[in-house]
Amino acid sequence: MIYLNGKLVPPSKAVISVFDHGFLYGDGIYETFRLYNTVVFKIREHIDRLFRSASMIGLKIPKPPESIAEAVYETVRANKHKEAVIRITVSRGPGPLGLDPDLCVKPTLVIMSNPFKPYPAQYYKKGLKISIVNTRRNYSKALDPQIKSLNFLNNILAKREAKESRAHEAVMLNYRGYVTEGTVSNIFFVKDNILCTPSVKAGILGGITRNIILEIARENNILYKEGLFRADDVYSAQEIILSNTSMEVMPVSQIDDVQLKHGPGAITKALHRAYRKKVKHYLKGQ
Ligand code: PLP
Repeated sequence: MIYLNGKLVPPSKAVISVFDHGFLYGDGIYETFRLYNTVVFKIREHIDRLFRSASMIGLKIPKPPESIAEAVYETVRANKHKEAVIRITVSRGPGPLGLDPDLCVKPTLVIMSNPFKPYPAQYYKKGLKISIVNTRRNYSKALDPQIKSLNFLNNILAKREAKESRAHEAVMLNYRGYVTEGTVSNIFFVKDNILCTPSVKAGILGGITRNIILEIARENNILYKEGLFRADDVYSAQEIILSNTSMEVMPVSQIDDVQLKHGPGAITKALHRAYRKKVKHYLKGQ
């Protein structure tokens, strides 16, 4: 069942107008959540970010945050899901042709819950291949990557390049050549035992998983640095990690032609263990 503008409907009835400015112009925002054993992990943080994205594009979400949380759980329950990935999409809604957001009176609100398909265990054991691509990350003064926007062509173009290199994920540089993030993930790497990650100033989405990883680093006295890094810093790293809500802490074993050691390194392992512990702890508290 899909939640569409206040109603739960079967997928065949979950249709929106061709005049929706989300469809026409990519005018809207979204958020992805992970459901663990019927509990939505870090729901408040995700809903806060949804509202932040909305406010950055001047979009009024038609319900208050508490009602959004309730609607998320209604959707999950209607689908009887235990482990799922949930997506909320809010678009500007239907309106006449034209860019003016005021042409749209009623935003479209959709919540979808999809059963969680675990990533192959091999990925966590061996690590993924990634590629630093030519497509640059959106300039933050043009389309701020902090907005979790429906306008995903930047990432899709990068993903196409990654696929050409048979890489699982693309990593984009910003217009000044500093490392930013993946198409759906943040990046970390370990150099001289320091956990490094591009700072938000590089032009990235401040991932919720990224925040948790930095919190784990602080709690465990893992030295870390948020900064501006060059591709060469990543190519010469001892460990590389990708993070997002659904993959959690994912090791990387190859970046373009540079082969890292197979399997997760010591810091990657420690971070993933601590992350799983945080999830368990969160579930207990609900
Ligand atoms: N960066 C981008 C571009 C993303 O699309 C995502 C997740 O979808 C992330 C980073 C990771 O964010 P989070 O950890 O909140 O899932």
